[in-house]
Amino acid sequence: MRVILLGPPGAGKGTQAQRLTQKLGIPQVSTGDILRAAVAAGTPLGREAKATMDQGALVPDSVVIGIIRERLAAPDCARGYILDGFPRTAAQAEALGEMLQALGTPLTAVLSLTVDPEELVRRLGGRRTCGSCGAAYHLETAPPRRAGLCDRCGGGLLQRDDDREETIRKRLAVYREQTAPLVAYYRGRGLLREVDGRGDIDAIFTRICRLLGAEG
Ligand code: AMP
Repeated sequence: MRVILLGPPGAGKGTQAQRLTQKLGIPQVSTGDILRAAVAAGTPLGREAKATMDQGALVPDSVVIGIIRERLAAPDCARGYILDGFPRTAAQAEALGEMLQALGTPLTAVLSLTVDPEELVRRLGGRRTCGSCGAAYHLETAPPRRAGLCDRCGGGLLQRDDDREETIRKRLAVYREQTAPLVAYYRGRGLLREVDGRGDIDAIFTRICRLLGAEG
């Protein structure tokens, strides 16, 4: 199964991608995670991308297309994958389409997660991640048992540099301008499935599984 999770920052793409990975046994391919890992490791790619990411802007198409080309060729992607955060521009969608056509591996579906803008700001502002194991928390909806510490490993919880209010607004504007048009792009290709991204994480996951015919 080859699926794109499309939606604004904070719509729950990462959370739902992780669940799908567990259920379907295919990897989550997140360009944001790959770029953050490169930043943390201080690689040339990370050094180049950091300032752009901190501003909430998009890393150049050529960079992320190169990342995806390499990642999708890895053996663990042979049975499928969940794309989370890619494509984000028309040029990325076109490049992906060409790549998949050459490989003879068409997309199964594009799931568009819809959430109200005010809700997105609330979700992103409260988001915290364990610096050690990557577990996800939210100050209001999924707080840790001990403030600032991971329930799983005791590591310190961090706020992503780009989850601060000013950057959040910028990321939402970038989404509206550059990524939202992909909803129509994939609808035109008969691949789009809309998912109500409001409410409970389990309920949203159930909706997604139903749409993918992966219930039970
Ligand atoms: P995310 O974790 O998906 O919210 O991505 C975090 C940041 O990484 C974004 O705000 C961009 O700066 C960068 N990024 C991730 N995916 C892409 C992409 N497909 N195209 C361009 N920049 C990206």
